[in-house]
Amino acid sequence: MTDLPVLDSDGLRALAQRSAAVTAACACAEADLSCWTSTPLSFPESQLKDVGTLLADPYDEPGFAEYHPHGTRYESGDAPIAPRYFPYNRCNVSACAICGRCYLRYTEAGGYFVDRRIRALNRPGLVVDAD
Ligand SMILES: [Zn+2]
Repeated sequence: MTDLPVLDSDGLRALAQRSAAVTAACACAEADLSCWTSTPLSFPESQLKDVGTLLADPYDEPGFAEYHPHGTRYESGDAPIAPRYFPYNRCNVSACAICGRCYLRYTEAGGYFVDRRIRALNRPGLVVDAD
């Protein structure tokens, strides 16, 4: 496994704040990643460096329950970011080495495909500390 630091909601919120403050143009910010999406082919993944994880216990299979108290859906741009809920509970957080913007990433594996999903982490107000 990794030895990335495990982030709680406070740590996540701090990274979102930092990311939101970045205004420099960067190749990583060209696509709209405000909601979960498959990583675009044009996205400069090589610029990203993992800076933390939300996977609290690597020996514990994270659940699939989602957290949507206000009627959002998985793919909503304003869906809350709840670290203990799917899909955040299996995400790594990555930062762009060029501009410092942060992203949530996880891999969705189906029978015949692997889908590398990504969502921008730049709205601290969406981070919630839900049990
Ligand atoms: Zn960047």
